[in-house]
Amino acid sequence: MNKKLFWLTVLFFIFSFFLLNLFEPVSARPGGGHGFSSGGSGSRGFGSSGGKYRSQKIYIRGLEKSVDVELIKLILALIIGGSILYLKIREADKGQLLSVSSLKTNPKQSIDEQVEAFKQKDPDFSLTLFLDFASNLYLEFYNCHGRDEIINLIPYISEKELRKASNKMIRIEEVVIGSISLYSILEKNDYDIINTDIYSNYTVTTDLEKTKYELFERWQFCRKKGVSSKNPETMRQLSCPSCGVEHKFIAISKCENCGVDIKPGEIQWFLNNKNVLVKEKFESSVSHVQEIGTDFKTIFQKNIQEKITVFCHKNKITEWDKYLSHLKKEIISRSFLEIYENWSKNQLEPIRFLLSENLYRSFGFWVKIYRGKQLFNKLENIQIEQIELVKIDLDKYYDSITVRIFAHCYDFLQSSSGIVVSGSRTDLRSFSEYWTFIRKSGLEKEVIIIGENCPSCGSDLPKNGQSTKCDKCGSTINNGDFSWVLTMITQDEVYRG
Ligand SMILES: [Zn+2]
Ligand SMILES: [Zn+2]
Repeated sequence: MNKKLFWLTVLFFIFSFFLLNLFEPVSARPGGGHGFSSGGSGSRGFGSSGGKYRSQKIYIRGLEKSVDVELIKLILALIIGGSILYLKIREADKGQLLSVSSLKTNPKQSIDEQVEAFKQKDPDFSLTLFLDFASNLYLEFYNCHGRDEIINLIPYISEKELRKASNKMIRIEEVVIGSISLYSILEKNDYDIINTDIYSNYTVTTDLEKTKYELFERWQFCRKKGVSSKNPETMRQLSCPSCGVEHKFIAISKCENCGVDIKPGEIQWFLNNKNVLVKEKFESSVSHVQEIGTDFKTIFQKNIQEKITVFCHKNKITEWDKYLSHLKKEIISRSFLEIYENWSKNQLEPIRFLLSENLYRSFGFWVKIYRGKQLFNKLENIQIEQIELVKIDLDKYYDSITVRIFAHCYDFLQSSSGIVVSGSRTDLRSFSEYWTFIRKSGLEKEVIIIGENCPSCGSDLPKNGQSTKCDKCGSTINNGDFSWVLTMITQDEVYRG
């Protein structure tokens, strides 16, 4: 992060203040106006666009628009706040293994280009699988925090982080990831490094109290250079990276089952260092805020035409336009409407198979809050205006597409007795979002799975939304192995391409 970026950060805080306070507040939609930000930009998406978490509320709360003195104080606070964030981010850039001056990276490369470059070194690398791995480790790490089970994560955590997490005074539960994305890919000495940004919520329990937090963390994953990425099965489990057997670590790094002494990073990625950039008490107030970024220019992948050609070749598509319109109509529009219709009813069971595991948990987090407050976030007369294909990512195991969806609806909060608490059922609200779908590479079916039958064996699927596995054949339905699954929603103002 350079000086220019620092000042941009400061300006951004100031600008955000004006946007949030000088405009009329408007309505929320799913995750709307709170997400993981509780005070960030107006948006749905359940905080899947981590960048909503901008800490404005720390500085903004309680100030009156009309008081000039307060405004000056606020701007000062924002500058100081921006500086602190800047320093925090700089610190996070460094990490444990690293010193900034010696990092090998190309700052001009977008993260997309960095992933492409990394795939040249490790053709088996799959962004989808890496994020699954990182999410699993994140959840497991915090769920085991302060518990004996943390020892089972020895192959996946540096000694320093393991020691910190062994503190029995602090237990963590109810961990939910709001969003996860790559921040940068670097190399240093013998290691490849992937810095990953994670927005989440969790509850800390001590002997005295229970406190819910929202967090923005940067986790630094490392792996020895020259190690190849593992197959989907191995990437999705946190068992012994050598023999695959679960939870058999009794002494430092030696697997009880296969006897192999596993040094972190030799076979699989491990958490080297984590930086908590923002941590604050979570407040579940439902508020409405301004929609930001709907008029921003769409960010297209630079070589999208090239990607389309490869995608067509790989999937034997001869008429791209026809295929794309089918995709937009049958997959994207249907998913979008189904998801938001069910969101409006505070129910997720019918859309269980349309959402990746993380996204489902994240949606669930908010639905629980709405249910608790006996509120519904109604999105009436929702209409899609336009869908733009912005990105295609292909790897050995998964295809992923990102589209920007423009839509409008009447967006309001309604109590269980039918009273409109906020928002409007007469003024249409326009918005746009970037949606990312994944599916297994080479899959020919172009369907979405709403429920009913297992796409693998045909037997009835669990209906209560509790499981995504077929009882009979054990297939997991929502990991992209059978159809397109929504894996991320990113708001306009934080989408980086
Ligand atoms: Zn083993
Ligand atoms: Zn089955």
